[in-house]
Amino acid sequence: MSEYQFDLFVIGAGSGGVRAGRMSAGFGARVAIAEDRYMGGTCVNVGCVPKKLYAYAAHYQEDFHDAAGFGWSKQSPTFDWSVLRDNKVAEISRLNGIYRNMLNNSGCTLIDGRAKIVDSHHVEVNGTVYSTERILIATGGWPRDLGVEGSEYAITSNEFFDLPSFPERVLVVGGGYIATEFAGILNGLGATVKQVYRGELFMRGFDLNVREFLANEVKKKGVDLTVNLNVTKISKTAAGYDVSFTDGTTEQFDQVVAAVGRVPNVAGLGIENTKVTQNSAGYVQVNDSYQTEDPSVYAVGDVIGGMELTPVALAEGMKLANELFNSNNYDVDYEFIPTAVFSLPNVGTIGFSEEDAREEFGDIKVFESEFRAMKHTLSGSDERTYMKLIVETKTDRVIGLHMVGSEAGEIAQGFAVAMKAGATKAMFDTTIGIHPTSAEEFVTMRSVTRN
Ligand code: FAD
Ligand code: NDP
Repeated sequence: MSEYQFDLFVIGAGSGGVRAGRMSAGFGARVAIAEDRYMGGTCVNVGCVPKKLYAYAAHYQEDFHDAAGFGWSKQSPTFDWSVLRDNKVAEISRLNGIYRNMLNNSGCTLIDGRAKIVDSHHVEVNGTVYSTERILIATGGWPRDLGVEGSEYAITSNEFFDLPSFPERVLVVGGGYIATEFAGILNGLGATVKQVYRGELFMRGFDLNVREFLANEVKKKGVDLTVNLNVTKISKTAAGYDVSFTDGTTEQFDQVVAAVGRVPNVAGLGIENTKVTQNSAGYVQVNDSYQTEDPSVYAVGDVIGGMELTPVALAEGMKLANELFNSNNYDVDYEFIPTAVFSLPNVGTIGFSEEDAREEFGDIKVFESEFRAMKHTLSGSDERTYMKLIVETKTDRVIGLHMVGSEAGEIAQGFAVAMKAGATKAMFDTTIGIHPTSAEEFVTMRSVTRN
């Protein structure tokens, strides 16, 4: 009989924690999971799921408009925020229930409340101390504070999805995934949106041509994307919020949304009661087995940094469960992780940007294509699509694939398999396209744009 109540105590029922807990229980481990906010974590409650639902909602505005060129008579559809928000709430409480049942059915002991690590083998929740052989920190991330006077008046992604009323004039601060997705959603739903980014060009880390192309497309759709500008102060007024900017100007908004990155969610967790170490940005440091400097404490997901995406947290949680309780040890493969930005239009990206590829491989070939999608020949929309392949000259391997355009995320997912399998440009070229699609362009790019 073990001296501990549990084999694994998971802190956080988000993407990584649920997957690790459920699989570990499936392998026969005695698992507890503590969660203090919402079943399913960030992705289900204030991340991927509500974001994608709202992005669908935002697309309708374009779709109604585009339909006219196909013979559908123009109506004047109106948008009701409360219907969208309340339907979203209902769907997410359904998902919360599914998560709860799934965990219960897998044999995990669910504990509602905020967990604090007491020492390397003890966790306290709501005044009860539980003993455990191992602890898993799967506490995710938390929105970074804007850090200016009045930043308490700005909402973050935590509040965005449940706003009591739809704001007409919105300022979105930031130039990453969340800011760009939210600006597109708000603009599509009918708000007047200004997005400010502190640097020269938003979406840092993505391929330069993708960033430039996307900037142009979002501006065409009506987002006032302003660069080299940041907020210095927010004041509350009777009419909304007065926002002062670094260029000395002041503007009035109904809502300010700060999307300036996320920080590891470890405040009050009791990390200081263990040997767990954090890097300078606060991320929990782990080895390839997701074990921290404290041998009985593990961590997965956003709290360890890297690519902060749900499928990555799932993969890490799955590997941990397999290694600890199924004698199946393997490394998570972080190469060619596909990602999409659900901006309007979408971005899909796999592997190296042109800039990174040049640095890493030196000799590369770049293939590009830019066109108006067939749908827009009749819709009248001036939206354009951009596609790019990056090939390592020496091996002919496709090492980067990028797209800005409709369903870019859906398209990138399939090509990610090919790229992981080591597909060469010659293999792309001998693959027969599906006509007429936008995706077929990826297998018909014949001329090198530049070396
Ligand atoms: P989380 O899902 O954040 O789960 C952590 C859980 O721990 C939370 O439920 C929290 O309440 C709980 N917790 C924290 N501290 C304690 C404690 N002390 N005691 C008890 N419980 C605690 N990723 C994608 O792949 N695709 C997307 O489209 C996408 N969209 C996103 C949109 C937004 C607005 C945001 C914010 C994120 C998005 N992400 C997306 C990222 C994705 O949500 C995260 O990568 C993923 O949720 C990380 O999973 P996790 O298990 O590490 O943490
Ligand atoms: P990101 O790291 O993507 O972007 C943060 C942005 O905020 C950057 O443009 C950054 O500028 C800017 N910034 C940082 N600090 C400040 C500041 N003090 N003042 C003004 N601007 C600032 O973070 P997000 O919050 O957008 O998203 C967090 C993570 O969540 C993402 O990295 C991604 O992993 C995940 N996510 C994934 C999604 C998806 O898969 N579709 C969707 C949403 C989130 P700079 O570039 O100059 O540093």
